[in-house]
Amino acid sequence: MPQALNHRYRRLRLILGDQLNLEHSWFNKPDASTLIVVAELKQEASYVKHHVQKVCAFFAAMEQFAQALQQRGHHVLYQTLDDTAEYDSLESFITALCARFDVECFDYIQPDEYRVSKQLQDLDLPSAVQKQSFDAEHFLLPLTELDQHFTTGKSARMETFYRSMRRRLNLLMDGDEPEGGRWNYDQENRKKLSPAAVTELPKPLLFSNDVSGILQRLRRHQIACIGREQYVLPWPVNREQANALLQFFCQVCLSNFGTYQDAMTANSESDWSLYHSRLSFALNAKILHPLSVVNAAIAAYRNNSEVNLAQVEGFVRQIIGWREFIRGIYWSNMPEYAVHNALGATRQLPEYFWTGNTRMRCLEKAITNSLDHSYAHHIQRLMVTGNFCLLAGIDPAVVDDWYLGIYLDALQWVELPNTRGMALYADGGLVGSKPYAAGGNYIKKMGDYCESCHYDVKLRTGEGACPLNSMYWHFMARHKERFQSNHRMRMLYGTWNKMGDETQCAVLDQAEHYLNIIEQL
Ligand SMILES: Cc1cc2nc3c(=O)[nH]c(=O)nc-3n(C[C@H](O)[C@H](O)[C@H](O)COP(=O)(O)OP(=O)(O)OC[C@H]3O[C@@H](n4cnc5c(N)ncnc54)[C@H](O)[C@@H]3O)c2cc1C
Ligand code: SF4
Repeated sequence: MPQALNHRYRRLRLILGDQLNLEHSWFNKPDASTLIVVAELKQEASYVKHHVQKVCAFFAAMEQFAQALQQRGHHVLYQTLDDTAEYDSLESFITALCARFDVECFDYIQPDEYRVSKQLQDLDLPSAVQKQSFDAEHFLLPLTELDQHFTTGKSARMETFYRSMRRRLNLLMDGDEPEGGRWNYDQENRKKLSPAAVTELPKPLLFSNDVSGILQRLRRHQIACIGREQYVLPWPVNREQANALLQFFCQVCLSNFGTYQDAMTANSESDWSLYHSRLSFALNAKILHPLSVVNAAIAAYRNNSEVNLAQVEGFVRQIIGWREFIRGIYWSNMPEYAVHNALGATRQLPEYFWTGNTRMRCLEKAITNSLDHSYAHHIQRLMVTGNFCLLAGIDPAVVDDWYLGIYLDALQWVELPNTRGMALYADGGLVGSKPYAAGGNYIKKMGDYCESCHYDVKLRTGEGACPLNSMYWHFMARHKERFQSNHRMRMLYGTWNKMGDETQCAVLDQAEHYLNIIEQL
């Protein structure tokens, strides 16, 4: 899409790969003295080993975004990996562009990741160039108001935050009270899929974006990636596709979203997508605005009798509650948050996280889904891979790298508090009041993985016993000092204490055996 550019511009404006917000006020009207830069950078493609579909999705969406801006009359410089190969960092690239176009002003949108934010904050341009940062105009709670809800180093509770957001945005409200009289419909939600319900799962809406050119560039510049490579990318990379996915979700999935939010199955072609929206990439790349997403869901609830309040509330909670809450935790605790390791976990990630080659059916499915689609639904991330890493005591730094690399929607601001906080309790309880630890029973309760597993979920010890069962108690025993006075865990320690020495020893021996052969599980 070559566009005739001027030799000189007064202003250079940078758009990062996760700032593809066509509604941003920067783009209200074209200005011939402003050059907008969108660039594929090696530093972004390789700060962690990404899933190949993730890099393709970001680059494809950036290309489409640049084209959309050009069509609206903006002057846009799109730089591919070929064009930027000579720059080893964002700073050297920006400095060179400022000189090349002889600009007086360099503008950027406040990055959501600490790493990039720091780079741009520290960027030392010649004194003739004025540097200014602008709001992303995306999140529902302004950055400047985060300190009213979050305090560095102090725990915050999602439920309180969520209620304040419902009131603030006046969503599903009846005056000052929640519509329907309740804030939370979790009790109605979160069911297991029956075998009949598994057969009714909808086929996910997929797209066909040709990314062969991007794949060639990745090869040319030796960007090492993980996961299944696809020349035709099924993820939405522009507004039309993202809106089509949103409509598909509202019409086909929303009526069952809450009900099967935590369900897991291995028995359907749609077992990786279920009734989930798969909108996280479009949201995190800012192709979609969170308010337009929740408004579409609420409109579907008002107009479609099959969508009830429990379903729509469950969905609204994820977007205006969890997503904004996680961002608040991140920004009020960085950079310290990135090194928290409250439980002193040090083990390495087993090799099967990169291959899916394990006899534990639950892990095999969650990992294979992730490698195939660059996606896993929430409960796979939290209660399968996350829970395993928690119980096994895997070093949070390597777990972070895995999550940050493998998922299409992974950006540090959202990945880090979910992984270190919610899944690993490495933040010592800033996100959750207790660890989300579970044995095999939970996996059995919420899905059908155990039915086709090599291990027996009913056994705690002995040959073929489900590894999660003994590892669960091993985790509780080794962190007894920390957790036994937590009122939400008192009953659990009561059960442990009642087991008696002999049973406790057998369970701990079993767990230690499994931990010793963790690579062979
Ligand atoms: C260990 C772990 C790591 C995670 N890493 C990421 C990540 O890197 N990027 C990411 O966007 N989400 C992450 N999540 C949150 C959540 O799992 C994903 O947002 C969700 O699975 C994306 O799929 P979906 O769009 O189909 O979500 P749906 O189930 O359809 O939910 C709708 C939307 O709600 C939002 N949402 C729901 N839960 C969360 C949450 N806990 N935090 C933030 N937003 C939430 C997302 O925007 C999501 O698109 C992680 C969760 C865990 C437990
Ligand atoms: S038996 Fe254990 S390891 Fe196997 S699927 Fe069930 S919970 Fe996972």
